[in-house]
Amino acid sequence: MGKPTGFLETPRRGPAYRPVAVRLRDWREVYEAQDDEQVAAQASRCMDCGIPFCMQGCPLGNRIPAFNDLVYRTRFEHAARQLLATNNFPEFTGRLCPAPCESACVLGIADEPVTIERIEYEIIEHAFAAGLVRPSEAVASGFRVAVVGSGPSGLAAAAQLSSVGHHVEVFERADAIGGLLRYGIPEFKMEKAVLERRLEVMRASGVVFHTSRPIGATGTTLGELQEHFDAVVLAIGSTVPRLIDVPGA
Ligand code: SF4
Repeated sequence: MGKPTGFLETPRRGPAYRPVAVRLRDWREVYEAQDDEQVAAQASRCMDCGIPFCMQGCPLGNRIPAFNDLVYRTRFEHAARQLLATNNFPEFTGRLCPAPCESACVLGIADEPVTIERIEYEIIEHAFAAGLVRPSEAVASGFRVAVVGSGPSGLAAAAQLSSVGHHVEVFERADAIGGLLRYGIPEFKMEKAVLERRLEVMRASGVVFHTSRPIGATGTTLGELQEHFDAVVLAIGSTVPRLIDVPGA
């Protein structure tokens, strides 16, 4: 726990919105940056709970109290190690995640929760700026894996498999990589440059991306992929909404 009295002294403060007049001229991400002092003050609000419900709320099991403590001490490099241990793409989740960790944060019972998502964003942006996000240097395993679909799950699978030395090729039917990250998220939420930055790291790690390559009835078949690869990951998502048979849904 960085500062035992932090949650008593410091109110929750997220980043401010950039002025609308400016945003209308560039359509870039909506938030102003926070300086390190502000981010550390927000991290100081973490109570390092005995049972950190934030971690249970996080589908990735991010080590939230640990990185909050390190950010409070402005040790962003160490915080990045903690964050990247469980999260392949904090720069995406730090911008896009609905933050169930914050809904689960114990501080939220009596006050406003810790700004966990924004702290995550700051950690990974510091890590990129410091050159800490580098291509994988894993020893080649000799195994080849095909990943079908290049949305968030396909990219996470590809990054994880590549990180342990497997040769990974990603097959995407659209003409660009990213799936929902590219075609579903507006620029003001996450600029495409953020996606491209990560794809560059993955390419440098040896991941091969194929675009305009549908798998199935109209393109390469699953059987053909299975012939050429040791394993195939299907991360194809859905282009139709989930059907919920509830009136008014
Ligand atoms: S639940 Fe909230 S206050 Fe408790 S450890 Fe997690 S982030 Fe910190």
